[in-house]
Amino acid sequence: MGIEVNPESFRPIVGIDLGTTNSAMAYIRDGEPHIIALPNGDDLLPSVVLIEPSGQIRVGRDARDGLLAMPDRAIAAVKRRMGETDPIVLGDQQFLPEEISALILKELRQLLVPLYGDQAIEAVITVPAYFNDAQRRATKHAGELAGFVVERIINEPTAAALAYGLGATTERKRIVVYDLGGGTFDVSVLTLDEGILEVHASNGNRELGGEDFDWSLVDWMAAMILKLYGVDPRDDLRARAVLKDLAERVKWVLSDEDQAPIESPVLMVHDGQAVRLSTTIRRSEFVQFIQTRLDETFALLDDVLQQSSLSAKDIDEVLLVGGSTKIPRVHEMITEYFGRPARSEVDPDLAVALGAAVQAGLKSGALSESGLVATDVAPFSMGIAVARSTLRGLDNGYFSPIIARNTTIPCTRTDTFYTTRDWQTAIDIEVYQGEHERVAKNYLLGSFRLTGIPPAVVGSQPVEVTFRYNLNGILEATARIVSTKKSQTLVVQDGLERHSKEALAQSRARLEALWNDEAAEPYTTVATELDLDLDLDLDSELAHDLLDASPALSTPPRVDHTPLVPSEQEPSVDENIEDPNLSLIADLNAVLLELLDPELRPKVIAALNRLQSALESRDAKSIDEAVDEATTVLMEVDLFL
Ligand code: ADP
Ligand code: MG
Repeated sequence: MGIEVNPESFRPIVGIDLGTTNSAMAYIRDGEPHIIALPNGDDLLPSVVLIEPSGQIRVGRDARDGLLAMPDRAIAAVKRRMGETDPIVLGDQQFLPEEISALILKELRQLLVPLYGDQAIEAVITVPAYFNDAQRRATKHAGELAGFVVERIINEPTAAALAYGLGATTERKRIVVYDLGGGTFDVSVLTLDEGILEVHASNGNRELGGEDFDWSLVDWMAAMILKLYGVDPRDDLRARAVLKDLAERVKWVLSDEDQAPIESPVLMVHDGQAVRLSTTIRRSEFVQFIQTRLDETFALLDDVLQQSSLSAKDIDEVLLVGGSTKIPRVHEMITEYFGRPARSEVDPDLAVALGAAVQAGLKSGALSESGLVATDVAPFSMGIAVARSTLRGLDNGYFSPIIARNTTIPCTRTDTFYTTRDWQTAIDIEVYQGEHERVAKNYLLGSFRLTGIPPAVVGSQPVEVTFRYNLNGILEATARIVSTKKSQTLVVQDGLERHSKEALAQSRARLEALWNDEAAEPYTTVATELDLDLDLDLDSELAHDLLDASPALSTPPRVDHTPLVPSEQEPSVDENIEDPNLSLIADLNAVLLELLDPELRPKVIAALNRLQSALESRDAKSIDEAVDEATTVLMEVDLFL
């Protein structure tokens, strides 16, 4: 097996569908995506983890077989809990959901060891379109814990569309992805425009899937047994497990045949009688059991189309994804609904993994000739600091998002802002990432000053701020004076890599130990720092609050959508000022005016002098140090004032 190598990093790269019921991994070979089979020949790894009393970990089929017998030692469908911080108890150990997912991913990672040993391997991992930041980050974290370099997290419906080769066309298309898996139903409307795939709307039921169909068959069989033997096999743990397994296999047969024989082994002994079932079921009977649930999926499909202001006839492609779409009744209903059959050439339970591999191939260059473009979503909002008028006057500390969280990327968005004072000729553009209304609670990505605004009355000079955000997390922020067309651009990395390195290393080491050591020590989970806030540089956050609160508000005014009345207290800004650090000097000066403390005054003066000479020297390192010192002094002063 020769896995394509990323020409830039020479790292192999794979695509992974980390599913609720099953997971799968694929890669690009000879320009086509291929599934990497398990040692037992299966394409799908059941997403089940079991810890044996000996401490040994089982993942996949063995774990699934033990699920009903050892419910307190096994976990299935952990995907539903991704992003939560409540630990999962397995035997005498505790895990975070992402750690359980990491064990599943690690099982897949093992398949690559014979080829690559411990070499770094990149992975594209898929998540449902509705996953929020925390769930996406938990998924990324799981991949890292398993030893992958997580190149990208992409949406499952997008991956499915890529598996169908959509994206290679310049046509405009509207696509519905109907994904009915083992325990979840998701339906999404995608638009394809100029080769870019975008998830337009998404809907679903997290508790509806093939498992329900299995249980409906179990109920039917149990009712028969009850009639024949006067005993309910569902009350017996083992009999229940055997029937569930049988039901799933009968269901599969009914996807291919009009009827299926049912021959159960001895389920239990009741009143000295061996309890077993021997009968046949017709497909039409099975369809009756599941029809209501299927109707529910179509109601959700109705909703998602309505949300997108579309009707069935506006849809150009319908893709069926998920193992349960192999049920012929699903095809019939789709055909009735859309007036034509859905596409199902790509194996529906492999489509997502294959599409993830296509995305991986696009990244590695293995598919660079394909003409495919792929997309992702922005995991955080990105925007700029703006001023708002408050009772105290202008307040500079508000966040105005330009690219909203979960916007499909690559994308370009523009917003218009206005000067806040008469005759204002310069504005500071501070670029932040985060969800908080106050910029100080968000993450500063960078800043620049746009000068040369023609002096005019407040609100009459629009400035357009355009954000272009690409798949590699690079943000290009451009501010443009509309009247003169003068513009200035800043390019920043989105700064996503802000996990606590320590927590990652600790978690990974523990999983590593579990993997190697059959009887690992009991362990209490340490919550990893997934919160954006926790990763913020405390000093800078405090410094921000301080600067906002300092008596003379001398930072150059920022801008807002609405023209704002200039505040009386606000000192005018020297339009020729090119260095934002000068605002720090102004703050120090302002503090000096109020400060009488004999110990602190010399400190402020020293910080001022140092900052001034550092700025004159134009030496970046001494400027940084002087800014740090000045910020620290300002904090001390704030405690005192
Ligand atoms: P998930 O996305 O939840 O991980 P999958 O897409 O792998 O799940 O779908 C798993 C479900 O598909 C299971 O309930 C399984 O029984 C069902 N399934 C697989 N093959 C068939 C088939 N031939 N007919 C009906 N259902 C099937
Ligand atoms: Mg799936």
